[in-house]
Amino acid sequence: MRGVRAVTVKPGVADSLRLVEDQPEPPAEEGAILVEALAVGICGTDHEIIAGKYGEAPPGADRLIIGHESLGRVVEDPTGTLQPGDLVAGIVRHPDPVPCPNCAVGEWDMCRNGQYTEHGIKALPGFARDRWRIEPQFAVRLDPALAQVGVLLEPTSVVAKAWDHIERIGHRAEWQPQTVLVTGAGPIGLLAALLGTQRGLTVHVLDRATDGPKPELVAGLGATYHAVPVNDLPFEPDVVIECTGAPTVVLDVMCKAAPTGIVCLAGVSSGGRSIDFDAGALNRALVLENNVVFGSVNANRRHWTMAAQALARADQVWLESLITRRVPVNRYADAYTPDPDDIKVVLEFAS
Ligand code: BGC
Repeated sequence: MRGVRAVTVKPGVADSLRLVEDQPEPPAEEGAILVEALAVGICGTDHEIIAGKYGEAPPGADRLIIGHESLGRVVEDPTGTLQPGDLVAGIVRHPDPVPCPNCAVGEWDMCRNGQYTEHGIKALPGFARDRWRIEPQFAVRLDPALAQVGVLLEPTSVVAKAWDHIERIGHRAEWQPQTVLVTGAGPIGLLAALLGTQRGLTVHVLDRATDGPKPELVAGLGATYHAVPVNDLPFEPDVVIECTGAPTVVLDVMCKAAPTGIVCLAGVSSGGRSIDFDAGALNRALVLENNVVFGSVNANRRHWTMAAQALARADQVWLESLITRRVPVNRYADAYTPDPDDIKVVLEFAS
């Protein structure tokens, strides 16, 4: 077996990305299940970590192994939960040690005290290495047919949580949503749109791009693509999933939602930009129309299971077309260099 290679950064230090060879084998304390990595997906959070703006090394370490969107094959599981050869992904977040009331019941995605940890992001080693370990309660088995696209499970878990909470909020009263607006046609937006179409809703996706793969990917879902300002859309959506984090888009969708509309904010803004905004008008619109705006991050085990089912039901060819670049780990620097036509870039480990 070859030595373990790992993609690492020094958190807080920009451009410290390195592939470290001959890392130690993952220690037994990391979990009973030994996994051979197949692929790791790359997202905006990884780019923020590489830019030195986010991320935390495990206690006592100065480097963090990155990678939180995982897919691997089980090598051994002495607990018998999984079988050698099973496709598996690792849940990103672990509950805080206190634990807070939410983490105590497995809802670590709703952690109250901020002391949660996250693989490849916050104080837990990531999955961008040849082999990793995980405990059974944080391992999610995937349908064997998902070998090519199972690396999309983590971003799908994030949108499965968003949809779960939208539905819980919706059922505060009689609720028959019809139209959904997703802003941002990156991987999160496209997967949010997929889950909307799987619910039989009329889905619209708004993005700035007028060419490249996005319009066709949206059409492939049977959804409608718009490259216009939010205010020019000819309808008021019952549900909005905002995935750009762009301040003007965030504000515009809050005003655009239909009466009793639900706006889920799933994109993260970089902050530091102020814009002129009539907060009183927004207050009137929200109160007088019973609208809800809420934020959503991360996912718990229930959402990972929902996401695995959603991926298994989806058109596999469409899912594959979301992965616009597959880069072998020895060319890791290319993988982490963004290209304007990227949707999802994946680092591949299998030889
Ligand atoms: C990940 C989430 C994580 C969040 C904040 C996102 O990129 O998908 O699992 O909770 O970053 O660290």
